Amino acid sequence: TRSIPEMVQADAPTFSFEFFPPKDDAAATTLWEAIRRLEKLSPSFVSITYGAGGTTRDRTVRLTQRVLESTSLTPLAHLTCVGHSRDELRRVVGQYAAAGVHNILALRGDPQGGLGEPWTPHPEGFDHADELVAFIRSLGDFTVGVAAFPDGHPESRGVADDAEALVRKERAGAGFAVTQMVFDVENYLRLRDEVARRGSSLPVIPAIMPITNARQVVRMAELAGQPMPTAVTDRLGRAGDDPAAVRAEGLAIATESSRRLLDEGAPGIHFITMNRSSATLEVFGNL
Ligand code: FAD
Repeated sequence: TRSIPEMVQADAPTFSFEFFPPKDDAAATTLWEAIRRLEKLSPSFVSITYGAGGTTRDRTVRLTQRVLESTSLTPLAHLTCVGHSRDELRRVVGQYAAAGVHNILALRGDPQGGLGEPWTPHPEGFDHADELVAFIRSLGDFTVGVAAFPDGHPESRGVADDAEALVRKERAGAGFAVTQMVFDVENYLRLRDEVARRGSSLPVIPAIMPITNARQVVRMAELAGQPMPTAVTDRLGRAGDDPAAVRAEGLAIATESSRRLLDEGAPGIHFITMNRSSATLEVFGNL
């Protein structure tokens, strides 16, 4: 089987899906229905998020392990530095290795007080994601991905900072990057070109969230410190209060953005599924 960077560098674009660990049995049932339906598309990989502040550590590990054991999918486990000493991080990485999981998305995580609060590293942990990348690589045979911010990370001063952070993470051993939700394709292209201009060949996979519910996505964008562009909110606004019209417009936006990204040479599309399958299946079908 090919590694994620090998898949990303091949000619055909990759398709991948993001899930989060379910919080109860009902949510687990919904998630597994989505996983089973999306599995039929044979995605390149599926990623499993790590709760803010490290809150889902055990659930993230368990879900990743279960995906590996009971599906044909290749899991990519997210891991953050928040609230963890190096010893704790070493233990989590060791659990992945023992379970046969060899793909990790290495993240710093957001400040524990929330966005806008200063970042304070764990006294025996890491200050930045590049240190976690190098640490994971030193622990064994892992493929490591990292986060990219086309609209700018909230703490960065501009696109140069965002590009340089990616180059640093590549030098530390990252093999690919996945972006925040892309709503403005121009911003993605600008970051990608800034990274390439620095002599880096790090593949940057754009993430697409098919909008089905306007309020939910506005909230997610706020949580990520990333306001939605007015071009998108205006289009959704024109759909008014009709949920079916909002959904149709949201899926049209996701389809158009994905097409343009692939036409512009993006190495793949990472779908943020919100643990559901139908919107992602529709957009995938349109492509
Ligand atoms: P870093 O790369 O450390 O960057 C953080 C800031 O520091 C940036 O402004 C950067 O420019 C700057 N910087 C980087 N390196 C250095 C350095 N060496 N010296 C000085 N400055 C530096 N969060 C979760 O809690 N769980 C998840 O599962 C999760 N999944 C994510 C998936 C994706 C695809 C993305 C894009 C984000 C995800 N996040 C997740 C959010 C992420 O943890 C936060 O956005 C966090 O604030 C930044 O993480 P990072 O890994 O990019 O950090």
